[in-house]
Amino acid sequence: MNTRIPIPGGFRWAVMIVAGLAQALTVLGNTTPALLPEPVSLSVTGGQFAITPATRVLHIGDDPRLADAATYLAQRLSQAFDQDVVAERTDATVAQPGAILLTTVGADAALGSEGYALTVANDGVVIRAPMAAGAFYGAITLLQLAPPVAFRGQALVENKPGGTLTIPAPRPCDQPNLSTAKPVTALTVPCVSITDRPRFAWRGLLIDPARHFWTIDELKAYVDSMALHKLNSLQIHLTDHQNWCVEIMKYPELTPEKAMNEADPQRLSGQTYYKLARHYYTQEELKSLVGYAAKRFVNIVPEIEMPGHASALMRAKVCPACLVDGKESSSGEICPGNEKTYTVLQDILDEVLAIFPSRYIHIGADECSKKIWGRCSQCRARMKSEGLDDVTALHGYFVGRMSDYLQRNDRTLVGWDEILESGAKAGAIGMYWRSGTSDELVRRAAKNGQRLVMTPTAHFYFDYVQSPDKESEPVGFGRSVITLKTAYAMKPVPESISQIDPGLVLGIQANLWGERMQSFPHVLYMTWPRACAVSEIGWSPERPRDYAGFFQRLQSHLERLDAAGIKYRKPTAIDR
Ligand SMILES: [Zn+2]
Repeated sequence: MNTRIPIPGGFRWAVMIVAGLAQALTVLGNTTPALLPEPVSLSVTGGQFAITPATRVLHIGDDPRLADAATYLAQRLSQAFDQDVVAERTDATVAQPGAILLTTVGADAALGSEGYALTVANDGVVIRAPMAAGAFYGAITLLQLAPPVAFRGQALVENKPGGTLTIPAPRPCDQPNLSTAKPVTALTVPCVSITDRPRFAWRGLLIDPARHFWTIDELKAYVDSMALHKLNSLQIHLTDHQNWCVEIMKYPELTPEKAMNEADPQRLSGQTYYKLARHYYTQEELKSLVGYAAKRFVNIVPEIEMPGHASALMRAKVCPACLVDGKESSSGEICPGNEKTYTVLQDILDEVLAIFPSRYIHIGADECSKKIWGRCSQCRARMKSEGLDDVTALHGYFVGRMSDYLQRNDRTLVGWDEILESGAKAGAIGMYWRSGTSDELVRRAAKNGQRLVMTPTAHFYFDYVQSPDKESEPVGFGRSVITLKTAYAMKPVPESISQIDPGLVLGIQANLWGERMQSFPHVLYMTWPRACAVSEIGWSPERPRDYAGFFQRLQSHLERLDAAGIKYRKPTAIDR
């Protein structure tokens, strides 16, 4: 997406109100652990437990997902100790002296698929959750209860990033973070009782390799940084005008070597970080990413843009172009009049579905310049035969056919909020992004029972810079500014939808578009710590937002990011 709208001034009032409420709230005592996101309930019970390299990490029974959760915890502890800690299966059903036990036995079903109860006692730890995902989040909380060194190590990427560093003198935002935390021999954790579950099922980020390409290992590092914040959905913008990043066996012409360089060299001008031989992912690479993310309870949502943002399809002559006066148009929109378009896109989706098990498949459908369709003989014939009044209805017809196809394959279509303009099918999910412009649109959609994910430009477009002091910031998109405070002031369920059915909001997502991103460290810099706000809004219960309290906890949390080697922007005076 390219077109942006100015941020409305109203959020400033929201920030002031939140700040006022914060003062009225009880300030957390010093002994309360600085958890991020804040859990539903926490009580400090006195005493402490020391995790050492000898501490056993146990999981009960044969559930492979529970084993994944325990293995991840053991890997993190191994990095903190610089000694192998191994997760082990057990048949025990009660707490094991001196051990960390992950179990689904006897869990409170009311905690849902991602909730957990965590008990740290003097003689051991029990994480009890109805499902393995909850046990995983309990393990993340346990790591946060320990000193920051528990996050030690580079993100758990098996291989070094590919490519060659080509920046002669990297700017600060382009320099990777290296963890300087030294390994320890014990991690002391306070005794607590925590009951916790997320507010929303969809807690996401978007990354955009179609504009600036990131290696699979960088995407894995990104997934890791998300997992440490209980974020569970990564949307990857795999295709756009500039580039097609996913290997399609049936149409290899979509991914020629150095496609992006040949297609539009100017687009590469900002890409100084890596000079790579290719700018697409093989199917095997993407499958390895999906598997890696699954072990961290992150779902990968592929986005294949159609019918707009689709020049790559026509440039490769894979999709037919619109016909105007008998000539092929050079428009970046595909031709929804031509039946071959549907055959090709279904072929492509077949391969995409085989790579990504995600229930949700994003087709974009935003910013489509539909004018060309009114002039295309094939589109006009289609409108006539289908009884469609105008090109907006043709857009709806196209999205409807894709929605039906995905539904037949047991998947759910997701599209930007433009799909609500042309009447999305029931069951499809609209992603709200145009703050202000689409407010009435999503209200009407909610009235029709449409489900939504909220990704407003006014709060959650992370390619906007983070400070009005632009001299000190790396390049961002356009002139808008989204500070940490602005991100934290995001209201996930607008009043208008709350009155209809708050349950229609599946969750939230922040989008980091790639046009201006110059290096992968720059991507992380733009993401953190603003995504800490996404984490808390997506996870913590609905209650008056306390920015001051969040900011205070963030100070401790930034030490964890330092230990993890996750790059972030250091808050300045404007963030207080
Ligand atoms: Zn056409």
